Amino acid sequence: MTKQDLIEIPKPLDQLTATEIERKSCIGKVMTYTLKSLTNTYVNKGFQWLLPVALSQSTDPLWPDPGASIEKRIEVDIYGKPVRTTASMIIHKLIAASTAYPKLFILSPNIRIEKAERAKTGRHLYEFTQLDFEAQGACSKDIFILVEEAIVTLIKDLKREMKSELTTLCRCDTLKVPKTPFKIYDRVELEAKYGKDWEAVITSEITDPVWVTNIPREFYDFEDFRTGKWDNYDLFLPQFGEVLSGAKREYEYTKILTKIERDQVKKENYSLILKMAKESRLKPTAGAGIGMERLVGWIAGVKHIAECQPFPRVPGNVNEL
Ligand code: AMP
Ligand code: MG
Repeated sequence: MTKQDLIEIPKPLDQLTATEIERKSCIGKVMTYTLKSLTNTYVNKGFQWLLPVALSQSTDPLWPDPGASIEKRIEVDIYGKPVRTTASMIIHKLIAASTAYPKLFILSPNIRIEKAERAKTGRHLYEFTQLDFEAQGACSKDIFILVEEAIVTLIKDLKREMKSELTTLCRCDTLKVPKTPFKIYDRVELEAKYGKDWEAVITSEITDPVWVTNIPREFYDFEDFRTGKWDNYDLFLPQFGEVLSGAKREYEYTKILTKIERDQVKKENYSLILKMAKESRLKPTAGAGIGMERLVGWIAGVKHIAECQPFPRVPGNVNEL
């Protein structure tokens, strides 16, 4: 039997026993506390809180990201125009941070119809929420400092104020305040040491959150064409794996165009960002998105992150609510 076989699919609310409802309620309180703490941190640092959108002509291509596994892309016509459900608000963030909202965050809905075989990874949902943020003029180091401070503040305060919930979840003693600065690894070194499966190896070996940099993926992450190095990063949590992806962003027209063509991404879906870049209206920014269900899943010590959702979104499992 594999580890995955032991993972149960979280049940909808109406099917929970009294004990399960108590546990669900504790996880819900940890989620509320986490949202309060993180949004406070960002607002206090001058970030503007934007409301999300669900339907747009342009959304994240999610390609070429080696971690993506999309079974279906949702596209519908409204008012005679094709729109897609939000895969992430990366394109919106880049335009917003370049114009009226230089520092911004959004609790953004992400709809990604993951392959049904991901039901029991415990880490994948077909609908989830990112705390997605972007800052004009920021570099990777600024983002590391901001995220580390946000997470340390959250865990410190949680351990003080949510003792009873953490006790019910058996996380009172095992959840430790991480030491800063978090360690930084280059993906090339990890690959050389552990091979293609480096993500799984570091996830099981680390005891504190760590950064991994230089990961080839979508066109909007910054790539140094001379060295081939990517100025981007993921944050990994012990036992849970990737909880955040982010980068310094591309903003120069020729680079964006070259990368879109190289990746064979449909240019017409990204005409606005190309136009803004061509007119030098796209500004240098950096940012990231934190998966809320994974972050809270780690804090609460769940087996499946759908336990953090009131209405579970497990790949391949559609409930009435
Ligand atoms: P990505 O844009 O794919 O790097 O996603 C950003 C963050 O969202 C990840 O680091 C995860 O925390 C979270 N995330 C991505 N895909 C999923 C998924 N299918 N289910 C739950 N969380 C996800
Ligand atoms: Mg990622």
